[in-house]
Amino acid sequence: MIKAKKSLGQNFLIDKNIINKIVNTIDIKNRYILEIGPGTGNLTSSLLEKSPKKFYVIEKDTQLSLKLKEKFKDELIIINDDILKINENLISDKELIVFGNLPYNISTEILCKWILNLDSQNLWFSNLVLMFQKEVADRIISKFNSPNYGRLSILAKWRLEIKKITDIKPNCFFPKPKVDSSLLFFSPKTKFTKFNNPKNLEKITRVFFNHRRKMIKKPFNKMFPKKEELLNKLQISLNLRPHNLDFETYYNLTSEFEKLQG
Ligand code: SAH
Repeated sequence: MIKAKKSLGQNFLIDKNIINKIVNTIDIKNRYILEIGPGTGNLTSSLLEKSPKKFYVIEKDTQLSLKLKEKFKDELIIINDDILKINENLISDKELIVFGNLPYNISTEILCKWILNLDSQNLWFSNLVLMFQKEVADRIISKFNSPNYGRLSILAKWRLEIKKITDIKPNCFFPKPKVDSSLLFFSPKTKFTKFNNPKNLEKITRVFFNHRRKMIKKPFNKMFPKKEELLNKLQISLNLRPHNLDFETYYNLTSEFEKLQG
């Protein structure tokens, strides 16, 4: 019997209906797929039944990696490593469909890293099918003017189309997490604003959302000193609050910030 490690965010999926739902979000027959944190391999088994061409898994837990090797032999390419440490662009030379019941303590870190490192032309994935805590998923899919709208929504929507597939109750997992979960489906956008350095988008949103309830006067003046004409150009007023600026405005502000950097 495997004891779940809290430090690795181990909540294993046990509900067959949910596993089927995940597996059926996209046709993977003959495709190259990757699963993050396969754990005890419940989702893995169901994915294998759909006959992918090649199946990579990345599992940090060495004990679980060895068990997976025993159970699945050479049906899987097992990478016993930390997803945050490896260069995802080098996993395969084919576009991957990625599945993951993510370790929740690092789920936003994983998504942000993937977005910031995503090449503009050579994409390492064609789709992501990922599970998050519901509260995090709500922030990822949030629309502007809404309370959950913020850095995560703006970063995610910069490169990705996002759809919620379903919410998932704690009793679908063992051990039961304390919170509800949601399954999200992502596809890369073909059109998006290009930046010299995507970290500048992170920077702009960090500064603007530092005080969610305050007007944007301070952050604007900090990032764009003596640039009042920009307000006109971008059609914004300093009386607005950070969540009142739409996605495009944040992308435009980032481009303007990069222009100032020269
Ligand atoms: N997908 C499985 C398990 C999900 S729990 C299921 O649905 O049943 C999260 C899994 O991610 C665990 O197996 C855990 O060991 C693994 N994990 C945690 N941190 C990781 C990291 N940094 N890199 C790769 N895998 C990680």
